[in-house]
Amino acid sequence: MQGCVFCRIVNREIPADVVYEDDHILAFRDINPVAPVHILLIPKKHIPTLFDLGEGDVQVLGQLHKAAVQVARDQGLEERGFRLVTNCLEGGGQVVPHVHYHLLAGRNLKWPPG
Ligand code: 5GP
Ligand code: ZN
Repeated sequence: MQGCVFCRIVNREIPADVVYEDDHILAFRDINPVAPVHILLIPKKHIPTLFDLGEGDVQVLGQLHKAAVQVARDQGLEERGFRLVTNCLEGGGQVVPHVHYHLLAGRNLKWPPG
């Protein structure tokens, strides 16, 4: 979608540190990391929020989780683990209106996050 920063990353119109890519998913390092490992996973298709997921989009979330596990393995997190979170709309802290999951690791992540 024109004007969407993550679509522009998918289309290579703006640079990103890509760590994983397949036909449906792109993963790249967050520009403003809040943990030593902070990687964003997105469906290549523009879906603004989880509320916009259609029946046909359900599969892409499974693909995204599979990609997250692959990325976590590649980052050497199999022993220590990681956090995978998504924010939905303003109340959930979503700033970029293109569905994305944050993969966080490398420091002690408190719970609840606050
Ligand atoms: P949200 O708050 O929407 O869940 O998270 C959006 C995330 O996207 C933020 O952590 C922010 O740092 C990241 N971000 C925003 N613009 C860019 C960008 O142009 N490149 C990269 N790599 N990350 C971005
Ligand atoms: Zn988009």
